[in-house]
Amino acid sequence: TVGAVVLVSGRLAAGTSTGGIALKHPGRVGDSPIPGAGFYVEHGVGGCAATGIGETIILSRPCIHAVKLLAEGMPVEEAARAAVARHTRLFGSDNLGIILLDAKGNAAAAINTEGMPVGLAGAELAEPLGVMLRRGEERA
Ligand code: ASP
Repeated sequence: TVGAVVLVSGRLAAGTSTGGIALKHPGRVGDSPIPGAGFYVEHGVGGCAATGIGETIILSRPCIHAVKLLAEGMPVEEAARAAVARHTRLFGSDNLGIILLDAKGNAAAAINTEGMPVGLAGAELAEPLGVMLRRGEERA
């Protein structure tokens, strides 16, 4: 999955694009097109996009959970980590990564896998930033 969350002129949007998982059943619909699971936005609060094993993501809905934590006032990095930790408690690890952006433009990413490439671009950055997020290394 490739996921993106953007904040432009105060408006938030999130999107995902995926080929699904290997050996998927014909007709399978993963988490990527499902609001709350593969992506979620609440205007004025934040947005999220997820990657991983859709069968678990649909059940735990990490994106709506992460945005709900933002709405309750949790900082973006903590919210991303908490949403992934909850998912890991439910379904074990090696199945989820999320990116999370709040309405002020603060971004974070969290994973329960070995790694996930993450990119960040913004007016305040001279150049887009690309990093490989490694296990145990959540970032804001
Ligand atoms: N989440 C996608 C799916 O289960 C797969 C992926 O993230 O690569 O369809």
